[in-house]
Amino acid sequence: MATPYITIDLEKIEHNAHTIVELCKIHGIEVTGVTKVTCGHPGVAAAMLRGGVVSIADSRLENIQRLKDGGVDSTYMLLRLSPVSGVDGVIESVDVSLNSELSTLAALSQAADRRGLVHDVILMVDLGDLREGIWPDDLISFVREALKLPGIRIRGLGANLACFSGVAPSEDNMNLLVELADTIEKTCDLELGWISGANSSGLELIEAGRMPKRINHARIGEAILLGRETIHRRPWPGTWQDAFILHAEVLELKTKPSMVVGKRGEDAFGRQPVFEDRGEIERALLNVGREDIDVKGITPLDPCLRILGASSGYLAMDVTDAQGSLQVGDELAFSLNYSALLAAMTSQYVKKRSMRPIGNENEM
Ligand SMILES: *Cc1c(COP(=O)(O)O)cnc(C)c1O
Repeated sequence: MATPYITIDLEKIEHNAHTIVELCKIHGIEVTGVTKVTCGHPGVAAAMLRGGVVSIADSRLENIQRLKDGGVDSTYMLLRLSPVSGVDGVIESVDVSLNSELSTLAALSQAADRRGLVHDVILMVDLGDLREGIWPDDLISFVREALKLPGIRIRGLGANLACFSGVAPSEDNMNLLVELADTIEKTCDLELGWISGANSSGLELIEAGRMPKRINHARIGEAILLGRETIHRRPWPGTWQDAFILHAEVLELKTKPSMVVGKRGEDAFGRQPVFEDRGEIERALLNVGREDIDVKGITPLDPCLRILGASSGYLAMDVTDAQGSLQVGDELAFSLNYSALLAAMTSQYVKKRSMRPIGNENEM
């Protein structure tokens, strides 16, 4: 097997999806599985659907197209706001999109109307995380204008928290979303089916039974894929954290000093690395680097190995404590956080190897 590669345990993903879906179901919430961190990996989406998610969402049309080409049969939600230049693709490829701009809605409206279609949208409200969304004060006038557009059907309200600024979902901000939905239904004579309040940061609120009743939809990625809620990054009970494992190969293994020799300027990334003098150490160079991963986001599975740093193509490690058990050509395994997983799944140099039930493996 060519290195580096990432193994994807689809059974673990299915299991995680099942755990999250069952939890949400108890609290009246349907779950859409979010595949964007895997670049729309068809095997991952299929595992999420087997685990019980009602639909699949991704932030990019290219990823949704990849899922469709991979034979994944689902309804699709586009998470990232549509570009005005790409409304035709949105109308043709996805069943529902998230929106916050009237001019974009007008373009979607035209594109849908031209095809005799009606496109479902969820309006995003900014509850304070300051990424996408209509400011609450502007929502009613926005909805009034949006309702004039043919070819567009407003199906719900949504909000995204934590991803950008780390604002946590709370009873207060979730109640605000529900109140806004109630107000709009009354003043604009409209029925909002979906109140899409949560992502993986909402699990603690949901589990505690403190998510307002009207919140009936969640868009979940990380908790299913990496088994963590995203406020404290706490491993979620009943889920696996190791569905994805990165494997890289030892290219060089030598005893060298732990301190550099010679006068120092900046490294390739404009920084001045700090070194700790630990005398001579056993150093390993592996064939994965910043082109493939976020160095801070990977952890060797063998706790006696230590990451020293990385350049674009190399990962340098202190393997002294492996006590001579390693050889050039050996593979080392690493767990990944969200940031490292995103990079590894995006890197064309990291092969993706799906593991299916009963040892049947293949590459996708
Ligand atoms: C990425 C994303 C999600 C999923 O977030 P997780 O923390 O991975 O669960 C949900 N909604 C939107 C709008 C997103 O961009």
